[in-house]
Amino acid sequence: MEFKNFSLFIKHTKVGKTFAEALESGKVFGTQCEKCGRTFFPPRPECPDCLEEEMAYVEIPTKGTLLTFTAIFVPPAHYGISPPKMPFARVTQTPCPVGVVEVGNGLRVMGWIPDVDLKDLKVGDPFEVEARALRNGQLTIVLKPAGGNVPK
Ligand SMILES: [Zn+2]
Repeated sequence: MEFKNFSLFIKHTKVGKTFAEALESGKVFGTQCEKCGRTFFPPRPECPDCLEEEMAYVEIPTKGTLLTFTAIFVPPAHYGISPPKMPFARVTQTPCPVGVVEVGNGLRVMGWIPDVDLKDLKVGDPFEVEARALRNGQLTIVLKPAGGNVPK
């Protein structure tokens, strides 16, 4: 996989390659400090607590609860949401939900919440974190309601 397929700008980081390869295989990786055991997401190349540089990749929990959310009106191009067909218009009129899900170990994952109406979201709802390939081939992280509590 090439870094150009990842939707976030990580290709110049120490941890980008393994992280992107994990996403491609449907896994979301964080890093865990070999010295103190603390886990981080997004992955970090060093532990900020004990300054250890030996970090191991670990798959993070993907089930959690919606901690917060908001709507953006100018989504990134890789979401594949077409803007209105007006000259010079770059603003999408439909709000595009994004949020933060808290999974196990207190880790927080931010991502796009596709295919869900903003009015159906509620803080505290059970959510899942998922690695997803978008229509244009880019990889990203999406958040989706778990347990069928949120109607589509
Ligand atoms: Zn540490």
